[in-house]
Amino acid sequence: MSLPESICDDERYIGRLQEISSLNDIPREWRDSPIEKLICSENFGQKIEECKQPELLIATCIEFRYALPIPRMFAYVIRRASGRLVGSEFSLAYILSAGVRHFVLIGHNDCGMTKVLKKQDDLISALIEQGWPRDRAEDFIHSQSERHMMKDEIDGLRREYIRLRRLFKKVTIAPMFVDLADTKLFIPTWYNELAELDADLLSDKVLDIDLITM
Ligand SMILES: [Zn+2]
Repeated sequence: MSLPESICDDERYIGRLQEISSLNDIPREWRDSPIEKLICSENFGQKIEECKQPELLIATCIEFRYALPIPRMFAYVIRRASGRLVGSEFSLAYILSAGVRHFVLIGHNDCGMTKVLKKQDDLISALIEQGWPRDRAEDFIHSQSERHMMKDEIDGLRREYIRLRRLFKKVTIAPMFVDLADTKLFIPTWYNELAELDADLLSDKVLDIDLITM
């Protein structure tokens, strides 16, 4: 598998992401926070220093072509297929109890979860090869594929951002998108509008089935 072309050259992403090319491009509510440190590391090459306390949660996809630019003693990291945190609420409770109040969600281009419905047979075969009964493997993959698939990576990120805003109302959540070609972070253009909305007003923008998490 190779790296995809830059999102700047891919028409699917044109006009949907804002560049972060200077500190002025960072939203006010993210300044002087661990979110800003992560952006400065990815986009401006600044080194993140180790901290005494965990400062940040970074949630992103399992994607092997993306490595996070962080030292130890800085952030909790949850990596799951598509970066969705459904099913990770216990981990989130633990992270909140450790004092973390800043979350970063990072989507990426060329995500395998946009193609997962076509790959279901491969996933089922992989489990059968490990000794799973065929019917159990099929039930599992068919039921989980819907939950993890995305038609589009930027829309999938939006859906998860809204869901988490509703579930965790006193946390600053920063949705971003990484270009696998050079690991630069971008901000989805829908962010400003949604960030200003009260979490309770986001309720018509998320499916209730998405909110059921336990
Ligand atoms: Zn992915």
